[in-house]
Amino acid sequence: MKITSTLHNHCTMCDGNSTLDEMIKAAISAGFSDFGMSCHGYAPFDPEYSMPGEEEYIAALADAKEKYASDIRIWTGVEEDYFAPSKMPEKYDYIIGDVHYAKDAGTGELIAIDGSPQNFCDARDKIFGGDAMALVKDYFANMVSAAEKNPTVLGHFDLVVKNNKDNCFFDEESDEYLDTALEALKACNGCGVIFEVNTGAIVRKKRDLPYPSPYLLKELREMGGKVTLSADCHDAVFLTGGFDLGLKVIREAGFKSVLVWENGKFIEKEI
Ligand SMILES: [Zn+2]
Ligand SMILES: [Zn+2]
Repeated sequence: MKITSTLHNHCTMCDGNSTLDEMIKAAISAGFSDFGMSCHGYAPFDPEYSMPGEEEYIAALADAKEKYASDIRIWTGVEEDYFAPSKMPEKYDYIIGDVHYAKDAGTGELIAIDGSPQNFCDARDKIFGGDAMALVKDYFANMVSAAEKNPTVLGHFDLVVKNNKDNCFFDEESDEYLDTALEALKACNGCGVIFEVNTGAIVRKKRDLPYPSPYLLKELREMGGKVTLSADCHDAVFLTGGFDLGLKVIREAGFKSVLVWENGKFIEKEI
């Protein structure tokens, strides 16, 4: 099957490398019927990474919808971090909810857990006293809170492993890690969210496989979860980066279908 739309995309209005026009033109060239932009929601504590302002962003997307109306359907999405909630959620066509930070309860400082390995270490040491597993548990608890807000899609479920190359910070095979992740997966699925299979870290050479891990994806399948595929694209060149591998991993987990966004809603397509 061919994926005909993609919703998790960034551009130069947040931390993407390509302009909105470049991204849309790549989507048209790829033959997509629908294309969604999902810049990181406005986060005053992280201006380089997030959109300049919600109104400005939404207006730019409205212009693009009109400009490209004869070629492709454009959708206004947002990647809403749990710590940077939108002030106007009703203005978006869809919301990808997720977690990128750990928060120091005392000082209120937020540190990106998916930034550099140094960022991860800073979060672990400053906020969790050097205990990486405490960071992991906090991350998954926040993911459950993000799912409870009922976003259209729950993004990159186990992003906390991004910097954990060769299990350098914590053991992804340990019972403690797997039990924590699995409990959170169950709780999120209980909220009725659609999970994203996110291939973004593959083209950026951070991970070899999409989020969530094959183990979690298989568990999700067994609990009747639903998935959609996305590239978390930050560069027009990689618009469909990792899609073939993503679909393979989804199939191997036992899924028979994925959700694909078409004309304003998700429809189920056999794979
Ligand atoms: Zn993200
Ligand atoms: Zn993203």
